[in-house]
Amino acid sequence: PLVIGFETSCDETGVGIVRGETLLVDAIASSVDEHARFGGVVPEVASRAHLEAMVPTIERATRDAGVKLADIDAVAVTSGPGLAGALMVGVAAAKSLAVALGKPLYGVNHLASHVAVDIVEHGPLPEPTMAMLVSGGHSSLLLVPDVTHEITSLGATIDDAAGEAFDKVARVLGLPFPGGPHIDRAARDGNAVAIDFPRGLTTGRDVERHRFDFSFSGLKTAVSRWVQAREAAGEPVPVADVAASFQEAVTDVLTRKAIDACRSNGVENLQIGGGVAANSRLRAMAQERCDAAGITLRVPRPGLCTDNGAMVAALGAQMVLKGRDASPLDIPADSSMPVTEVQA
Ligand code: ATP
Ligand code: MG
Ligand code: FE
Repeated sequence: PLVIGFETSCDETGVGIVRGETLLVDAIASSVDEHARFGGVVPEVASRAHLEAMVPTIERATRDAGVKLADIDAVAVTSGPGLAGALMVGVAAAKSLAVALGKPLYGVNHLASHVAVDIVEHGPLPEPTMAMLVSGGHSSLLLVPDVTHEITSLGATIDDAAGEAFDKVARVLGLPFPGGPHIDRAARDGNAVAIDFPRGLTTGRDVERHRFDFSFSGLKTAVSRWVQAREAAGEPVPVADVAASFQEAVTDVLTRKAIDACRSNGVENLQIGGGVAANSRLRAMAQERCDAAGITLRVPRPGLCTDNGAMVAALGAQMVLKGRDASPLDIPADSSMPVTEVQA
């Protein structure tokens, strides 16, 4: 099936088109530059930008893919979670297109889409797959028997998401928003064992109570204190070393827990998705540790880890291929849609 997918949950207006399990186009317009000076995404600004970008991005996607809207078999859209006003733009556009074309509408979960996008990159997902979702708003270990309708959450962050920690630490270091890519770049010139930052929920009783949960707010505070102490002493802050040591602490915890989740559930396949999966150190460490543990690792190319429309089209196409019913035409934008609810 030829499926178009719309993504508007945050600051990216994404329109992807897939044919079955093949990606034809991934068109994106981002309002990230408009938010940078505020140090975070401003919901009103994002909604307005989606309104302006939606139609031109659909036009660009169909043109680049060489398809006509009339040839589309199904329309998929992120129905949640995300910013309510931003989601509404994509949902309204998808409903209109589905009605105009007389084709089925699939309202899908943004988080499940971060997992499903790997299908257009590396082929069908083994069933079950262990998925680690690490993004701006979430950090979760997910047992995924079937990405179209069955996802179990084994654990999640109990405070900040991994991407949020990257963004906050970047701010402490005076790096621009969003901070993840800047920390990644700064860390390349740094010493990852220069500073021994804390690994949350990996020792003592925390392991029993929060085996598959994450905590990054203590790490963020530790980095912030370390930098403040340096500044108070009138010494220069070694940005590259702090970035590398912080990044090492995050990736150490993420990969350790992901592999533990695979082992304890007898799952031999790990997929990593979400914006933080674009991180070069996380990708390298996950590969090393999975190789050592006999686990097959799948991570999409960095451009498909951060928000995009291809991921929505990819999950929509799976819905069609697996014969799932379409969503009703009156689906709402659900800003707090839980990860276990794959379809609206
Ligand atoms: P969610 O998917 O939870 O709704 P989101 O859609 O806002 O959140 P994504 O677009 O999936 O999040 O990811 C954005 C996050 O990924 C940001 O916090 C950003 O800093 C982080 N990120 C992007 N690239 C990198 C990188 N190379 N290293 C670390 N973090 C990164
Ligand atoms: Mg974004
Ligand atoms: Fe996302």
